[in-house]
Amino acid sequence: MDAREKKQMLLDSRYLRMTQIWAENSYCRRRQVGALLVKDKMIISDGYNGTPSGFENVCEEEGQDRSKPYVLHAEANAITKVARSNNSSDGATLYVTTSPCMECSKLIIQAGINRVVFGEYYRMHDGVDLLCRAGIEVIHLWQRDGEYQPVTLTSDNSESHYQEVEKFLATRK
Ligand SMILES: [Zn+2]
Repeated sequence: MDAREKKQMLLDSRYLRMTQIWAENSYCRRRQVGALLVKDKMIISDGYNGTPSGFENVCEEEGQDRSKPYVLHAEANAITKVARSNNSSDGATLYVTTSPCMECSKLIIQAGINRVVFGEYYRMHDGVDLLCRAGIEVIHLWQRDGEYQPVTLTSDNSESHYQEVEKFLATRK
Protein backbone atom coordinates (compact mmCIF):
# COMPACT_ATOMS: atom_id res chain seq x y z
CA MET A 1 0.00 0.00 0.00
CA ASP A 2 1.55 3.33 -1.01
CA ALA A 3 1.13 6.60 0.90
CA ARG A 4 -1.85 7.75 -1.17
CA GLU A 5 -3.67 4.44 -0.73
CA LYS A 6 -2.97 4.48 2.97
CA LYS A 7 -4.40 7.98 3.28
CA GLN A 8 -7.52 6.92 1.39
CA MET A 9 -7.94 3.88 3.62
CA LEU A 10 -7.69 6.01 6.75
CA LEU A 11 -10.31 8.39 5.39
CA ASP A 12 -12.53 5.46 4.40
CA SER A 13 -12.20 3.87 7.83
CA ARG A 14 -13.21 7.14 9.54
CA TYR A 15 -16.30 7.59 7.37
CA LEU A 16 -17.16 3.95 7.98
CA ARG A 17 -16.93 4.45 11.73
CA MET A 18 -19.28 7.41 11.33
CA THR A 19 -21.85 5.17 9.61
CA GLN A 20 -21.60 2.77 12.54
CA ILE A 21 -22.42 5.60 14.92
CA TRP A 22 -25.16 6.88 12.60
CA ALA A 23 -26.75 3.42 12.60
CA GLU A 24 -27.54 3.96 16.28
CA ASN A 25 -30.33 6.32 15.13
CA SER A 26 -32.23 3.35 13.78
CA TYR A 27 -35.11 2.13 15.92
CA CYS A 28 -35.05 -1.25 14.16
CA ARG A 29 -34.36 -3.96 16.69
CA ARG A 30 -33.25 -6.77 14.39
CA ARG A 31 -30.45 -4.87 12.74
CA GLN A 32 -29.25 -1.28 12.69
CA VAL A 33 -27.67 -0.04 9.48
CA GLY A 34 -26.18 3.38 8.75
CA ALA A 35 -25.12 5.03 5.48
CA LEU A 36 -23.39 8.23 4.36
CA LEU A 37 -23.01 9.76 0.92
CA VAL A 38 -19.76 11.66 0.43
CA LYS A 39 -18.89 13.81 -2.55
CA ASP A 40 -15.92 16.14 -2.96
CA LYS A 41 -14.99 15.47 0.68
CA MET A 42 -18.41 16.61 1.87
CA ILE A 43 -21.11 14.52 3.48
CA ILE A 44 -24.09 15.26 1.24
CA SER A 45 -26.58 12.79 2.72
CA ASP A 46 -27.12 10.23 5.44
CA GLY A 47 -29.52 7.44 6.20
CA TYR A 48 -30.38 4.60 8.54
CA ASN A 49 -32.92 1.86 8.17
CA GLY A 50 -36.47 2.70 9.21
CA THR A 51 -40.07 3.29 8.20
CA PRO A 52 -41.01 6.14 5.81
CA SER A 53 -41.72 9.62 7.22
CA GLY A 54 -45.05 9.78 8.99
CA PHE A 55 -45.15 6.09 9.93
CA GLU A 56 -44.72 4.77 13.45
CA ASN A 57 -41.13 4.11 14.49
CA VAL A 58 -41.47 0.36 14.56
CA CYS A 59 -39.64 -1.80 12.01
CA GLU A 60 -40.72 -5.30 12.98
CA GLU A 61 -44.06 -7.01 12.43
CA GLU A 62 -45.80 -7.42 15.76
CA GLY A 63 -44.61 -10.52 17.58
CA GLN A 64 -42.47 -11.59 14.63
CA ASP A 65 -38.80 -11.54 13.88
CA ARG A 66 -39.09 -9.93 10.48
CA SER A 67 -39.20 -6.39 9.18
CA LYS A 68 -42.29 -4.68 7.85
CA PRO A 69 -42.28 -4.69 4.05
CA TYR A 70 -42.25 -0.89 3.88
CA VAL A 71 -39.08 -0.44 5.93
CA LEU A 72 -36.50 1.47 3.91
CA HIS A 73 -32.89 0.39 4.01
CA ALA A 74 -30.20 2.89 5.05
CA GLU A 75 -28.86 3.20 1.48
CA ALA A 76 -32.36 3.90 0.09
CA ASN A 77 -32.94 6.54 2.77
CA ALA A 78 -29.62 8.26 2.00
CA ILE A 79 -30.30 8.24 -1.75
CA THR A 80 -33.89 9.47 -1.48
CA LYS A 81 -32.85 12.15 1.00
CA VAL A 82 -30.37 13.60 -1.47
CA ALA A 83 -33.15 13.58 -4.09
CA ARG A 84 -35.01 16.11 -1.93
CA SER A 85 -31.96 18.34 -1.59
CA ASN A 86 -30.04 20.55 -4.00
CA ASN A 87 -27.19 18.05 -4.08
CA SER A 88 -26.55 15.29 -6.57
CA SER A 89 -25.40 11.77 -5.80
CA ASP A 90 -23.73 11.57 -9.21
CA GLY A 91 -20.10 10.57 -8.68
CA ALA A 92 -20.50 10.20 -4.90
CA THR A 93 -19.11 7.50 -2.60
CA LEU A 94 -21.54 5.53 -0.47
CA TYR A 95 -20.36 4.35 2.94
CA VAL A 96 -22.56 1.74 4.57
CA THR A 97 -22.16 -0.49 7.60
CA THR A 98 -23.23 -3.69 5.80
CA SER A 99 -23.02 -4.84 2.17
CA PRO A 100 -25.94 -3.57 0.04
CA CYS A 101 -28.77 -5.91 -0.93
CA MET A 102 -29.99 -6.38 -4.50
CA GLU A 103 -32.75 -3.73 -4.23
CA CYS A 104 -30.42 -1.08 -2.84
CA SER A 105 -27.74 -1.94 -5.40
CA LYS A 106 -30.16 -1.10 -8.20
CA LEU A 107 -30.76 2.31 -6.61
CA ILE A 108 -27.02 2.86 -6.09
CA ILE A 109 -26.36 2.26 -9.80
CA GLN A 110 -29.18 4.52 -10.96
CA ALA A 111 -28.15 7.28 -8.52
CA GLY A 112 -24.78 7.55 -10.29
CA ILE A 113 -22.77 6.51 -7.22
CA ASN A 114 -19.38 5.26 -8.42
CA ARG A 115 -17.79 3.95 -5.25
CA VAL A 116 -19.16 1.85 -2.38
CA VAL A 117 -17.33 1.10 0.88
CA PHE A 118 -18.89 -1.26 3.41
CA GLY A 119 -17.78 -2.79 6.70
CA GLU A 120 -19.63 -6.06 7.06
CA TYR A 121 -20.21 -8.58 4.30
CA TYR A 122 -23.76 -9.59 5.05
CA ARG A 123 -25.69 -12.70 4.03
CA MET A 124 -25.79 -12.45 0.25
CA HIS A 125 -23.37 -11.27 -2.36
CA ASP A 126 -25.80 -10.80 -5.28
CA GLY A 127 -26.13 -7.05 -4.61
CA VAL A 128 -22.35 -6.67 -4.57
CA ASP A 129 -22.10 -8.70 -7.80
CA LEU A 130 -24.52 -6.33 -9.49
CA LEU A 131 -22.50 -3.29 -8.40
CA CYS A 132 -19.33 -4.89 -9.76
CA ARG A 133 -21.03 -5.64 -13.06
CA ALA A 134 -22.08 -1.99 -13.29
CA GLY A 135 -18.42 -0.95 -13.01
CA ILE A 136 -18.75 0.54 -9.53
CA GLU A 137 -15.68 0.35 -7.30
CA VAL A 138 -16.72 -1.85 -4.36
CA ILE A 139 -14.53 -2.11 -1.28
CA HIS A 140 -15.01 -4.33 1.73
CA LEU A 141 -13.15 -2.55 4.49
CA TRP A 142 -12.62 -5.66 6.51
CA GLN A 143 -11.81 -5.24 10.17
CA ARG A 144 -9.74 -8.14 11.44
CA ASP A 145 -8.23 -8.05 14.90
CA GLY A 146 -8.66 -4.28 15.00
CA GLU A 147 -6.83 -3.71 11.72
CA TYR A 148 -8.55 -2.47 8.59
CA GLN A 149 -7.88 -4.46 5.47
CA PRO A 150 -9.42 -3.11 2.25
CA VAL A 151 -10.52 -5.76 -0.23
CA THR A 152 -11.56 -4.56 -3.67
CA LEU A 153 -14.35 -6.77 -4.92
CA THR A 154 -14.91 -7.84 -8.51
CA SER A 155 -17.35 -10.21 -10.20
CA ASP A 156 -14.57 -12.80 -10.03
CA ASN A 157 -13.73 -12.65 -6.33
CA SER A 158 -16.96 -11.49 -4.63
CA GLU A 159 -18.19 -15.02 -3.91
CA SER A 160 -14.85 -16.47 -2.80
CA HIS A 161 -14.22 -13.47 -0.56
CA TYR A 162 -17.71 -13.86 0.92
CA GLN A 163 -16.88 -17.48 1.76
CA GLU A 164 -13.58 -16.44 3.29
CA VAL A 165 -15.42 -13.97 5.52
CA GLU A 166 -17.96 -16.64 6.54
CA LYS A 167 -15.16 -19.03 7.36
CA PHE A 168 -13.39 -16.38 9.42
CA LEU A 169 -16.58 -15.54 11.33
CA ALA A 170 -17.25 -19.23 11.99
CA THR A 171 -13.92 -19.53 13.79
CA ARG A 172 -15.00 -16.64 16.02
CA LYS A 173 -18.22 -18.28 17.25
ZN1 LIG B 1 -30.94 -2.86 0.96
